[in-house]
Amino acid sequence: MGDQVQATTTMEKIVSLAKRRGFIFQSSEIYGGLNSCWDYGPLGVELKNNVKRAWWKAVVQMRDDMVGLDSSILMHPRVWEASGHVAGFSDPLVDCKQCRQRFRADHLEGDRCPECGGELTEARQFNLMFKTFMGPVEESAAVVYLRPETAQGIFVNFQNVLTSTRMKIPFGIAQIGKSFRNEITPGNFTFRTREFEQMEIEYFVRPGTDEAVHEQWIKDRFQWYLDYGITPERLRLRPHDQDELAHYARACSDIEYYFPMGWSELEGIANRTDFDLKQHEKYSGCRMDYFDPATNEHYVPYVIEPSAGADRATLAFLLDAYHEEEVNGETRVVLKLHYALAPYKVAVLPLSRKEPLVNLANELWRSLRKNWMVDYDDSKAIGRRYRRQDEIGTPFCVTVDFQSLEDNMVTVRDRDTMNQDRVPIAELEQYLKEKLGF
Ligand code: ATP
Repeated sequence: MGDQVQATTTMEKIVSLAKRRGFIFQSSEIYGGLNSCWDYGPLGVELKNNVKRAWWKAVVQMRDDMVGLDSSILMHPRVWEASGHVAGFSDPLVDCKQCRQRFRADHLEGDRCPECGGELTEARQFNLMFKTFMGPVEESAAVVYLRPETAQGIFVNFQNVLTSTRMKIPFGIAQIGKSFRNEITPGNFTFRTREFEQMEIEYFVRPGTDEAVHEQWIKDRFQWYLDYGITPERLRLRPHDQDELAHYARACSDIEYYFPMGWSELEGIANRTDFDLKQHEKYSGCRMDYFDPATNEHYVPYVIEPSAGADRATLAFLLDAYHEEEVNGETRVVLKLHYALAPYKVAVLPLSRKEPLVNLANELWRSLRKNWMVDYDDSKAIGRRYRRQDEIGTPFCVTVDFQSLEDNMVTVRDRDTMNQDRVPIAELEQYLKEKLGF
C-alpha cells in the first residue's frame, strides 16, 4: 500500500529547514549534541504549542465529558509496579558482535546485523525506564523513575477528579506532558526520542459500552489529523492483530502517517479494560470503583485510551505542510500549515526603513499582535522576505509602502495563492480575522 503513497519530502530537507529557520535544533549542539535529544527553537515552540492547543481544544474545550490534568513526572515507585512497568516495560535488545550496533530484536527481519551482516548476540531484556534518586542518598530505597507515560498520573487521580468535579461516567481525563523512555534505537529526527511529550486521554466507561466508545474515539482522533490539514492519502488506521495486543488490552488501533521512512505510528487508541484501575486498587488498597447513580450499581470502569505524541504529531504536520513549487522558473518552498498551527499568523513588512513609513508599520505590528503572533521584518528585498515567510508558513504578509502613507491602505499577500489584496488599514484587522477564521 505504501508504494503508491509518496512522502512530501525527505527527512534531510525537513531537518535542514527546521534548523535554518529555528524550528528544531540538536540538543547541546555546542558540546557535540546529545543523541536523540532535540530543542524546539523560536518557531518550533510556537508550532508545537499550537499542536497541543489544537488537541486540547478538540478533546477538552469542545466537549462536555472531558476535563484536564497536569500530574507530576516523578511518582511513587509503587505506581510502576502496579502498572507493570517495573517487571515488563522492556524491549528485547541485541548487539552486533562485529560493528557493535544495537537493535531491537523485534524490529529485525533476519538473524544477522542489518548494517554489516555480522553475528548478533542473544536477545536480552532491557528496561526502558529512566531511574534516578530522590533526596541526597543514592540508595535503592530512594529510587524513583521518570515516568515512561503520562497515563498513570491520570489513573491515580481518578477518584480525586470524581470527587472534586461533577463528572459522571462516561467521562474522560486529558493530559499533556513529558515522558521518558531509554529507547534502544532512537532516531528519525524527533520521531523516536528518549524524552518526548505525550497527549493522552483516559476515557472511563461502563463495561459493555466500551467497544462502541472505542470505535467513536478512533473516528474522532483520525478526523482530528485531517481537520488540521494532514493529506488523507498519508493517514491510515491499522488495527492490531491479536498477537500484537498487550495482555490487558482488548483491542487497539494505531493511526499511522506515511513518514519518509514509511508508515509509522502517530497515535495508539486502546481498549485497556479495567486492568489499570484494578491494578491500582490491588497495589494501593484504595477503592477504584464507581457508583453509577443511573443504574444503582458499583463497578470498576473500563478505559479507552487515545495516546498520541506531541512531537510525532508536530513532525507529521511539518512534513505534510512542506511543498516545493515552481514559480517563474524558481523553486518556492512553502509550508502550507493549517492557519491554527502556523507559528506566525501575519508578518508586517515595511518596504523601507525610513520614517514615517517605518512608524506606520510599527504601529500596525503593535496593534495586530494583540490578536495573534505577528512577525516583523524590515531586512533585505521584499521578495526574499516573502520567501522566508513562505518557508515558515506565515499565512498573510502585510506590506506597508509609500503609497500607504497617502491612501491609508496596505497590501496583503496570501501564502497559498500568492494573490495580493489592497486593504484599507482601518479594515485590516477585520479582514485578517475573516481570512484566518479566528
Ligand atoms: P513505538 O511502538 O513507536 O515504540 P509505542 O506503541 O510504544 O510506540 P505508546 O506507548 O502507545 O507507543 O505511546 C503513545 C504515543 O506516544 C505514540 O503513539 C507516540 O506518538 C508517542 N511516543 C511513544 N514513544 C515515543 C518516543 N520514543 N519518541 C517520541 N514519541 C513517542
